[in-house]
Order: sequence, then C-alpha cells, then structure tokens
Amino acid sequence: MGKRERHKSAHAYPPYLHCKLDIQGTEMREIKLRQSYINSFLRCPEQARQERLGLVRQKETSDLLRGNAVHHAIEHAGLARMNDSRDVSLDEMIDVNDTFIADNANEVEVWRQEYDEVVDTCRANVKCFYDELYPVLDPVGVEETFTRSMGVRHGVQLTLTGTADWNDRSGALWDWKNPSRHYPAWEKQRWDIQSHAYTWALDKTTFNLAVFANGKLQVIEIHRSQEEKDAFIELCWSMVPTLLTIDTATTWPMRWEGWHCSPKWCPVWQAGKCRGEHLTEEPW
Ligand code: SF4
Repeated sequence: MGKRERHKSAHAYPPYLHCKLDIQGTEMREIKLRQSYINSFLRCPEQARQERLGLVRQKETSDLLRGNAVHHAIEHAGLARMNDSRDVSLDEMIDVNDTFIADNANEVEVWRQEYDEVVDTCRANVKCFYDELYPVLDPVGVEETFTRSMGVRHGVQLTLTGTADWNDRSGALWDWKNPSRHYPAWEKQRWDIQSHAYTWALDKTTFNLAVFANGKLQVIEIHRSQEEKDAFIELCWSMVPTLLTIDTATTWPMRWEGWHCSPKWCPVWQAGKCRGEHLTEEPW
C-alpha cells in the first residue's frame, strides 16, 4: 500500500482513533483517553459510545456553571501567586467568580438552582477556599495539562490526557469539587479513578479532593501506591478491545445500575433511545 493510500485508510478510523505508521511502516492505532472519559465509560459504555460519536451530548447545567465559576476564581488566585508573586483579595476572587457566571449563564440549558442561588453558593465556596486553603497552599502548576503514553500493545498506542487543577509545592495534587453535598471519603479512597490517573500521569503519590458544598470544606486525602497505579494501567487497557469497535458496533453494553441511568442524567435516555425508547421521561 502506497503512502497516499495509507493516508486515506487512516481516515477510515474515527478522529479519536488516530492511525499512524510506526518505524517499521505498519499501521498503529492511537487511542487518547481523557480521565473523565474513563469514568463515563465505566459508568455506562453505551452512553460513552454515543457521546464519543457525537450522537448525544450532556446538557449544560447550573451545576456545571457553579463548578466552572469556582474553578475559574481559584485558577485566577493560583496564577496570580505563581506567576506574579501576588496574593489576590477575596473581593477580587468574588469579582472574577461573578463575572464568569454572568458571562456564561446564557449557555445553561437546565437550571437546578435559581441564578441568585448559584451566585450565593459560588461566593460561599470561593470564600471557603480563600479562608481555609489559600493561606496554606502554594502552586507550582495551575490547570496543568498532561499527556502520557501507557505504551503499545498489539498495534495500539494508548495515551492518557488530562488537566490537573493544582499541583502544589508540597508535592500533593489538588482537585476542586463543587457538589451539593460532601462525599463518603472511604468510597473515594477505595474507588476513585481520577486520583489514580493524575498521580500516575504526574508521578505523584498524594491527591487531595477539596470538596466545597454550600460553603463548607471537606478535604479527602488520597494516596496512590505503585501497585494501585499498575492496576489502573490494566484497567485502561481493558477498555481497548471495546473502544476499537466504535466504528462498527451498533451498541456497547448498557449499564442500568446507578444514578446515571435516568432521564434526569442520561442524554441517550433524553434523546428517546436505549431505555428512553421504552420508558417515559418520568418512569418512577
Ligand atoms: S439509558 Fe441507561 S443503559 Fe442506556 S445509555 Fe443511558 S445510562 Fe446507559
């Protein structure tokens, strides 16, 4: 097969299953996994397939706006300290937060809180960060992106990509969460995928979740050993045989068990497909 033909055949793969040549000239497929996609896949492969193909998409919600606004204000404070050796005031952070909400509110399709409630909750969470974490943290990386190869097996190169919220001088990674309530810590310590992914990718052992819920802080400290990281690599490779079928499969396994499988949360259901084809918008 000539070079031009090889180039053409590369386009037979969907854009997220890149095809390239290795040094021997044989075709190599490259799969790039984002940490968030691993979570989606594990929750429900069929939902993950449809999202990856662009058949459905998650609606923009006020929950997302809340999380993004607080992230944005913390990023602003972290960058000021890291790049300009300047500590911002609480008023400045709140101003950044409020502006972000005002600028992005028109993209929200599902309001789960009133606009003013979103603003109040975000301000309380920003204050919580400012009072309890800003005095004790010192970033060497803010919104730090990474790309790391998991190696090559059977003609597939697997790569992990992501963005770490805060890489601290203490050696710990930090991640900001803005849910409506605090998490059971033991579940995160036992099962959380993101902590495996980020500690492996950035060669760390400690991953701290800072959970802001209605202005109250919960810190969940998670440690990941080499053995846990090795197990995580195998988990990622276990997804590959399924991922390779994305251009031919008409469905991937459906997973009903869990909060995610409902008309409230699943865009496939909302589109009237999968369980949504047989059940109503209000089945329970
Ligand atoms: S309706 Fe349930 S099983 Fe079907 S794609 Fe959505 S989450 Fe998965």
